[in-house]
Amino acid sequence: MEDYPRTIQEFEKRFSTEDACRAYLVALRWPDGFRCPQCQGSKAVLVRDTLFQCCGCRRQTSPTAGTIFQDTRKPLVMWFRAMWYVTSQKNGASALGLQRVLGLASYETAWTWLHKLRRAMVRPDRDRLSGWVEVDETLVGGLEEGVFGRQTAKKAWVAIAAQTDGPAIGRIRMRIVKDCSAASLHPFVEDSIEPGSVIHTDGWQGYAGLENKGYQREITKLKNKREEASKLMPRVHRVASLLKRWLLGTHQGGVAYYYLPYYLDEFTFRFNRRKSKSRGKLFFRLMQQAVTTAPKTYESMVGPAREIPLSLGVD
Ligand SMILES: [Zn+2]
Repeated sequence: MEDYPRTIQEFEKRFSTEDACRAYLVALRWPDGFRCPQCQGSKAVLVRDTLFQCCGCRRQTSPTAGTIFQDTRKPLVMWFRAMWYVTSQKNGASALGLQRVLGLASYETAWTWLHKLRRAMVRPDRDRLSGWVEVDETLVGGLEEGVFGRQTAKKAWVAIAAQTDGPAIGRIRMRIVKDCSAASLHPFVEDSIEPGSVIHTDGWQGYAGLENKGYQREITKLKNKREEASKLMPRVHRVASLLKRWLLGTHQGGVAYYYLPYYLDEFTFRFNRRKSKSRGKLFFRLMQQAVTTAPKTYESMVGPAREIPLSLGVD
């Protein structure tokens, strides 16, 4: 079932009531019909218009229980609007922007919603990249790569894998890595790329040994010049520069290390769907993943107190 609104007019017409929104959630959550989470029974009656009561064990289940919408005190209509807004903006939304658009009294609510939605942007069972894949690391949070080479403490190293699609970029994966050692980079490659693929890297030793793990390697040795790097592995470099511009633009550079993994997830979600014919499809995917993503509380999402945002610069 790929049933979603194509335009804002369709969206507004369709999701103007709680009942309509709930029906959509129910259809996405139980595409083959209701299943009781306790006894797997498939027969239920509707109680107080919103709860499914199992005819087998009598357990009552809310369609939002166990999803990112669990325990929300705001109307689903508002959540749907937030999700439409987030997916229809090419570059996404900041918490302040979302707060304004929805007329939310609290900034925290907008912030929490965006973080809950980011948790739903990655499918744990997504497939790995394959074919010819460029892999490199980039430093987020610093203007220059610094005197300590690849060993930095306060900034974040982000490993990037970009599939080639002719001269263009196919899908991407990215992850924060502790450092650029083989112990950090190999797991990223193994989790992100199918064995049998060609891994195209520079001569960095952190990639040595992947041949023994089922990958073919193409090594391009760079002579330490940026312009060369961007010519020889143009796709990862393009992705790195788009990522930095996005962090700086949409989020005003205000991204702390603790939250960076979730911003990487959002960037990847958007990037891999940038050629979608309809923005409605992104709304649909996000909604589909939102009903299968476990709930998170505000407390569990807030990072360590007083964490200083990474100082982002464009290079
Ligand atoms: Zn039951």
